[in-house]
Amino acid sequence: MENYKGCPRCGYANQYAAHFCAKCGFNFFQPQQPVFGAASNYGQVENPNDRPSFGWAFLSFLFPIIGLILMAVWWNSTPKQARNCLHGIVAWLITVILGAVLAWLIIFVILGYSIGFA
Ligand SMILES: [Zn+2]
Repeated sequence: MENYKGCPRCGYANQYAAHFCAKCGFNFFQPQQPVFGAASNYGQVENPNDRPSFGWAFLSFLFPIIGLILMAVWWNSTPKQARNCLHGIVAWLITVILGAVLAWLIIFVILGYSIGFA
């Protein structure tokens, strides 16, 4: 009896080494079992090539086009590095927007002084 395992879908007694149910075709090895799923997720998180670094964020801040390309390339394989690039690009955007606002403020102040107090 130990050489057989019951099919969870139809209950048919399959050989223990079977990958598929002989009666209904149920896949015993599909990533449905919680242990297997957790293990594969953990393996994804622990990608040894995914080394997050402030350097990637800084590079993306200085060269946002390069950061954007790196982010697209790394998005699936090394998501932590991709997120570094994203942070650098966001920081660059904030700096550019703040810089533009500040520049306009300065221009308006200078204009205001030159018109009002000249
Ligand atoms: Zn079955």
